[in-house]
Amino acid sequence: MIPAAFDYIVPDSLEAAAASLADGGENAKVMAGGHSLLPMMKLRLAQPSVVIDLKRLDSLRQIQADGGALRIGALVTHHQVETSSEVNENCPLLALTAGSIGDPQVRNRGTIGGSVVHGDPAADWPAALLALGAEVTLTSSGGSRSVAAGDFFLGPLTTAAEPNEILTGVSVPVPAAGTRATYRKVKQKASGFAIVGIAVCLRTDGDTCTDVGIGVTGLAGTPFRATAAEDQLRGKALTADAVAAAAAQVAEGVDALGDIHASGEFRSHLARLNTARAIQDALDG
Ligand SMILES: Cc1cc2nc3c(=O)[nH]c(=O)nc-3n(C[C@H](O)[C@H](O)[C@H](O)COP(=O)(O)OP(=O)(O)OC[C@H]3O[C@@H](n4cnc5c(N)ncnc54)[C@H](O)[C@@H]3O)c2cc1C
Repeated sequence: MIPAAFDYIVPDSLEAAAASLADGGENAKVMAGGHSLLPMMKLRLAQPSVVIDLKRLDSLRQIQADGGALRIGALVTHHQVETSSEVNENCPLLALTAGSIGDPQVRNRGTIGGSVVHGDPAADWPAALLALGAEVTLTSSGGSRSVAAGDFFLGPLTTAAEPNEILTGVSVPVPAAGTRATYRKVKQKASGFAIVGIAVCLRTDGDTCTDVGIGVTGLAGTPFRATAAEDQLRGKALTADAVAAAAAQVAEGVDALGDIHASGEFRSHLARLNTARAIQDALDG
C-alpha cells in the first residue's frame, strides 16, 4: 500500500503544468484531488515517476455562466457543483448528478475534471454530460482543443485525453427554458458508483417531444448516448407506449458489463426500467 517513489511538482500556472507534463512524457501524471490516482499508485496500478499537483491553479476552480453555456473548471469539486447557485439556476441536472456521487468526503475532494479524465465506466458525470451535449477542453504545451462528450469516452479508464493534455474545464450548453431533466441511478452500495445511471434531458411542445438527450453510464465499458432510444421519442407524442418503446431500446446491442455487483442481464434490465422511470420523472417535473 506504499506507492513507488516519484517526484512531486506543484506548478503555479497552467502553462508551467503543461510544460512539466510534456517534460515528464508518459511517466508523468497530473493530480487533482488524488481520489482515484493515489489508490491506483498505492496498488501499483499506476507508477508515475512524476506527479504534477494542480492544486495551485485557482483559475480551474471557477464556475461561470456566460454566452448560453455553463463553464465548470476542472478542479471544481462535486460539492461545489452541487451547491453552486449558477448551476442550480441554469442546469439543475448537474447539481442533481453531483449530489448523487459517493459520500460527503468524496464530493468534497473529488473533482469533475479528475472524474471525467479517469474514465471509470461507473462514474456519474458522463451520463449528464452526454445527455446535455457537453464539451471538454484540453490544453497541452502545444495549444487547446475541445472535444464533444460523445467523442471523449472511449473505453474503461480510456478517454480522448492524450497523456500530455490537461483537462481545463467542461462546457455545458444551458438548456432552454422549459427543458425537463433528471438523473436516476442504481448505486453500488459500498462506494455509491453507478451500477446503472440514466440521465434524461427532455424538451416538449405540449405532449410532443421536440428534443431529447439520454446519457447512460454503468451499463457498458463506455458510457454512451442512447440514440436509438432518443429516436423513439423525438418528434412523437410522449405516450406510455412511446416511453416503453424508448426504454426497450436503451440496452439493445450493448455489450453489458457483468461483475460481482450485477450481471449484464440484470444491468440491462435496470437500464430499461430506469430509462422509463427517468423519462416519467422528467415529465412529472
Ligand atoms: C470511496 C469513493 C467513492 C466514490 N464514489 C463515486 C461515485 O459514486 N460516483 C462517481 O462518479 N465517482 C465516485 N468516486 C470517484 C470520485 O468522484 C473522484 O472524482 C474520482 O475518483 C477522481 O478523483 P480526483 O478528482 O481526485 O482525480 P485524481 O484522482 O487526482 O485523478 C484521476 C485521474 O485523472 C487524471 N487527472 C485528474 N485531473 C486531471 C486534469 N485536470 N487533466 C488531465 N488529467 C487529470 C489523473 O492523472 C488520474 O489519472 C468515488 C471515489 C472514491 C474514492
